[in-house]
Amino acid sequence: MSVNWFPGHMHATRKAIIERMKLGVDVVIELLDARLPGSSENPLLAELTGAKPALKVLNKQDMADPARTVAWLDHFNARPETRAIGLDASEAAPAARLAAACRELAPNRGGMAKPLRVLICGVPNVGKSTLINTLVGKKATKTGDEAGITKNEQRISLASDAYLYDTPGMLWPKILVPKSGYHLAAAGSVGRNAYDEEEVALELIETLQPDYAPLLEARYRLQDVASMLSEDVLAGIGRARGAVQSGGKVSMQKASEALLNDYRSAALGRVTLETPEGFAAWRAEAEAA
Ligand code: GDP
Repeated sequence: MSVNWFPGHMHATRKAIIERMKLGVDVVIELLDARLPGSSENPLLAELTGAKPALKVLNKQDMADPARTVAWLDHFNARPETRAIGLDASEAAPAARLAAACRELAPNRGGMAKPLRVLICGVPNVGKSTLINTLVGKKATKTGDEAGITKNEQRISLASDAYLYDTPGMLWPKILVPKSGYHLAAAGSVGRNAYDEEEVALELIETLQPDYAPLLEARYRLQDVASMLSEDVLAGIGRARGAVQSGGKVSMQKASEALLNDYRSAALGRVTLETPEGFAAWRAEAEAA
């Protein structure tokens, strides 16, 4: 599956991140989707931000599998100069927790003379706008016209001596393994025109079969999902959701839309598509190919 990403957009985002790094950054927050932490991470970000400490924020944890979120937090916390925390939009005032995690990573910063400078990035749909809107509340400080600061860059105060910089543009998804493209599409992080819904739905079923068969069985009144062909599971979903055309034939397109909607809204349940070990194995496989 190919995902179209606009080179112009990529270039502008890269430039904005590089400019902000030149002006000074102490900690880089990468917002990840807790339902697909491997695929929503962009390894090129580390190339742009060098050895800066990183805070991985697993957002939308309310929709993710709690046990897998713990596994991913442990995985990121084991990296040097990296901390990881879980977050979701129900948290009314996340600024204090974000600032505390950043302070641990940059203990020598803080105070009026040396405020803590934090850059935030994330691929589309991870919830960056939602988080920023929550953080901004009433204390937004737009600094686009301050000398030397990237046009339209937003500066948000996390604490009296800690600033969060939101560069314009989105971090583009970096597809390292074929599964990532499908997972990002399933979660809604790539444009609708870049993929085929049926292909993505079938891949989603194959990812869900080993570990989440009971959720599919409960929602679509199916049995033995783990041992079925993914096409048969999708047809079963179509029948359960009334996606049947005249003549009794299941519309695989409608069935695919129903499954993707249920996954995206968490109507299926709390699902995380990737584990740290599984993702590492996919990467090793892709590199060996
Ligand atoms: P952005 O593209 O990264 O700016 O993402 P948005 O902030 O626009 O969020 C994408 C979608 O995810 C929106 O429908 C949000 O309401 C939803 N969303 C954002 N954060 C959360 C969260 O923590 N939990 C849940 N359940 N939904 C969220």
